[in-house]
Amino acid sequence: MNAVYWGLTALSIMGHGDALDRDEMVDFVMSCWDEEAGAFSAHPDHDAHLLSTLSAIQILLMQNALNRVDIDRVLKFILSLQTPSGVFAGDAFWETDTRFVYCAVNALSLLGKLDALDIEKTVAYIRRCRNFDGGFGHVAGAESHASQVFVCVAALAILDRLDEVDQPTLCWWLSERQRPNGGLNGRPEKLEDVCYSFWVLSALAILDKLAWIDSSKLEAFILSVQDTESGGIADRPGDMPDVFHMIFGLAGLSLLGYPGLVDLDPGVLHACEHHRKFGSQEGVEGFAEKDFVICIGIAVGLRSSHHATTDESNTGVQAVECHYVAMIVSYIPTIC
Ligand SMILES: [Zn+2]
Repeated sequence: MNAVYWGLTALSIMGHGDALDRDEMVDFVMSCWDEEAGAFSAHPDHDAHLLSTLSAIQILLMQNALNRVDIDRVLKFILSLQTPSGVFAGDAFWETDTRFVYCAVNALSLLGKLDALDIEKTVAYIRRCRNFDGGFGHVAGAESHASQVFVCVAALAILDRLDEVDQPTLCWWLSERQRPNGGLNGRPEKLEDVCYSFWVLSALAILDKLAWIDSSKLEAFILSVQDTESGGIADRPGDMPDVFHMIFGLAGLSLLGYPGLVDLDPGVLHACEHHRKFGSQEGVEGFAEKDFVICIGIAVGLRSSHHATTDESNTGVQAVECHYVAMIVSYIPTIC
């Protein structure tokens, strides 16, 4: 499910959101409906999970097909996963993580159901995850990590609670993520990785501090990671491209204003502002009528190793032919 969302969004950033067969995609999403739980799983006959439920909502919204979903049941599923501390679990096995807080907040916002959430309790848990360096960890007391910074800052932004962020300290920490070769890492002493082009950059964009990193060096790094034979983008030069790093590399380039890509406004904010403005069902219809609003979702450690094919006539970011993403539909996602 996540791979479908990543592939669809990557295509949409490149202006080819209609490259995939819409009905086939919607049918796949609906085949992942877990009737017992009232939510979506990552693959047919798997158990429902908050992450795949968010991806399903995002895909269906982008395909103007959210009317296929029993929203009341999904709402009940999401709310059932919040613990008394305010953190969310991902599924019935009760692993808790700020990633799942973000999934819940974003999903509820997209459904126009944020009023059903105990916002104070949710914000209180995110506050407990804030560290001395301004960053956020996956649970209270855990080390700051750039992807957790994204999920916490984005959730706070959706909830209009960015006052909870120590902005100068956090933006200093985020800008320290840039390494001499221009790439960004997720925490100190780690290697650079293309996916942090989104996790770090999106948080800086939300806080209006994109200028705190060297954009041209980051752009050059992302472009250097593209496989010029297959067209895909890997985590770092020489590695195998995959759809996960494809979307986050493209999202990073879009945030940097790279020519020819759809503007990404840092993602969820645009979509969620829209939904809050229009309310539930009306908002859903309004969303679909817009030309395109990308709602970047959380991605959790899925790596695939499929090759892309390229349109050699293009330069810079090469166009990826649609069957690259189409074959990802049959890939069984693994959440790690
Ligand atoms: Zn990565």
